[in-house]
Order: sequence, then structure tokens, then C-alpha cells
Amino acid sequence: MTSASEKSRIHYTKPSITELEIRYATDAATNGWGEHCYDYIIRFEQQFREHLGVRHAIATSSATGALHLGMAGLGIGAGDEVILADINWIASAAPIVHLGAKPVLVDVLPDTWCLDPAAVEAAITPRTKAILAVHLYGNLCDMNALAAIAQKHGLYLIEDAAEAIGSIWHGKRAGSMGAFGAFSFHGTKTITTGEGGIFVTNDDALFERVLTLSNHGRARGETLQFWPERIGYKYKMSNLQAAIGCAQLERIDELIAGKRRVFEAYKQALADLPLTMNPEPAGTTNGYWMPTIVVDEGVPFDRETLLAAFKADNIDGRVFFWPLSSLDSFSGATTPPTSAAISSRAVNLPSYDAILTTDIQRVVCRIMEVINDAQY
Ligand SMILES: *Cc1c(COP(=O)(O)O)cnc(C)c1O
Repeated sequence: MTSASEKSRIHYTKPSITELEIRYATDAATNGWGEHCYDYIIRFEQQFREHLGVRHAIATSSATGALHLGMAGLGIGAGDEVILADINWIASAAPIVHLGAKPVLVDVLPDTWCLDPAAVEAAITPRTKAILAVHLYGNLCDMNALAAIAQKHGLYLIEDAAEAIGSIWHGKRAGSMGAFGAFSFHGTKTITTGEGGIFVTNDDALFERVLTLSNHGRARGETLQFWPERIGYKYKMSNLQAAIGCAQLERIDELIAGKRRVFEAYKQALADLPLTMNPEPAGTTNGYWMPTIVVDEGVPFDRETLLAAFKADNIDGRVFFWPLSSLDSFSGATTPPTSAAISSRAVNLPSYDAILTTDIQRVVCRIMEVINDAQY
């Protein structure tokens, strides 16, 4: 057996950058100044609106910023509660806290690892203002059930689609269905601008409010120059980043197809093991940002053993998100049962466009060894 140092490193994710991205970035660096300093931003927003099928888009410096702007635009603030799933990245919860509102953490469904609609409904109080649907690892929340609950109780339904480019719910793209949607173009995501994000909505009035908020409170038609009408935020994407984003969006179908190809390869190779992976219910398409295994309950499995086996073979594994309720920042919150049961049995697998079939085989072999070892 070759030692880890002789084997090529398998990263958990890696951007796909071609001559096109380099050409646009070079053009932006050379020419994108003065009156051209917004050209790629305008083009990027246009391309993204077309991809998603929405009326409005505002490019931002991150998904966290897009969520913060959107929630501020909806008037979420002190005393309000926003319901989200307990298994989540902190970026979904942080803007709620920044606005002085309270994240209410509820359980997830065992198959999608996303919001359990029954748990959402049970957590509604007179202070609840919004439901934040995070499409985890590309898996879709049950948007029909959540929309019905939101409508019944007069709540906003917000989509954090940072991980869900390429995911489609009954003909509608993730991020296009809620009061607003947020996406991330961080270097680990399916398409990237290095750092970056975007706010999208079909609501004209919300768009105007968020546009003003995103420009330090300066309205589009401000009559006095440098006269902010309120205190806003500064979460803008740069023209340089947008240039890379334009190239990535021209290649988006190819990049989503790459994610799906990698997932299918894992799915097929791991089919006989006692585990489940990202679901794709009838009528939906999963963008499969992160192929993830959840080992069946009752199978002796130690996540740390698998991650150590990956490490010894120069493979980057990644832990499933921790329950937010287990963080010190949310001390006092109890971890709901499904959230507690899943996260210690789950691992994200390496996935990127250029991953080799032999790399996937290496990852699969390590998983098989660890699970079979544990079973017998
Ligand atoms: C990556 C991610 C974010 C944060 O994105 P940034 O662009 O880093 O702010 C938010 N929510 C989810 C679900 C994410 O995966």
C-alpha cells in the first residue's frame, strides 16, 4: 500500500475555473473601472435572474449579507422569532441574532435533514415572524407544506438556497419560491466568485427596500447626493467578483451536471451499504451540492473512525453540521431527537467537477472498510 503522502490529495470541494473565468476577471481588472465599474455586476444579476426565473436580484458580498438585508427588508427585528432547522450552518442563524430577533430551532425530517413542517407549526407563537427554509446540502425543504403553514399563520417564508443551486421543486428553482431567497458563491459552493452571494425576490416593494438598505440607505432616486434616508448596510459584490460569476453562470448547467454525476457515482458504489444519501423525491431535482452519507441506526458506526481513515488516505472528509442547539451561543436550547440522532452518523463526501473516478473509488473503499469492520 502506498503511504498517504504519495497519494494525491482529495479535497472535499474545489472550484472549476477555466480560461473563461480568467478572461473575464482579466477584463474586469483591466477595463472595469470608472463608468464600467458596475458592468459585470449588472450582467451577473441579469444572468442570475434568468437562470432562476425571478424578477429581481441584488448581488452581495455573501449569502450571510443577503439574508441580513432581506430579513431587515421584511422588518424582522427585536422581539420577533424566526423558525429554522436545528441542523444548520451558523450563517443562517447569525443574521436573525444581528437583527435582535430570536432563532427558534426545531427538528428536521429523517430523510431530507431539512425542516419538519409539524415541528415548525408546533413552534409558532404570537411573536413568530418568519420561517427560514434552508435547503441543506441541495436537499429541498417541503415547500408546499411550509408555504401552507406560512399562509395560515401570516408568516414570511424565506429560502436560504446557498447550497441549493440546481435544485428544483416541482418546476420551480430553489430560492425562487419564498418572500426572498439567498445564495452563496463562497469558494466551496457549486458556483463561486471567491466570496459572494445574491438576494433574489419577486416582490417589487421588498426589492426596492432591500436595494436602498444595500446601498447605505440611499434610495435609487435620491434627490440630494449622499443623502441616506435611513441607516443601511454595505454588502456589495465587486465588479471583479461578478466577472468570475458571469463566466460561472455561463457554465452553470455543466457545473450542476458535474455535481449530479459525482453524486450518482457514490450512490451506485455505496448502494449495498446500510446507509442513506441525499434524497430526490418524485417531482424534484437535487443539485447535490454535498454528497452525504447517513449510516443507519443500529449499525455500529463511529464518525471519527471514518474521518481518521480518510485523513490517513489524504482525503478531506467533512463533518455534517452540528446541531445549532449544541453550540454555546444557544445554550439552554434542547437538541430535538432527529437532529441529535443524525449528525453523529453523517459525513459529507468530497465532490467537485474535476474529481477522478479513481478518487471516488478511494473514498468508497475507505467507507466500506470502516462500515464493514464495525459490523463484524
Ligand atoms: C455557505 C452557506 C451560507 C453562507 O454563505 P456565505 O456566502 O459564506 O455568507 C449560508 N447558508 C448556508 C446554508 C450555507 O451553506
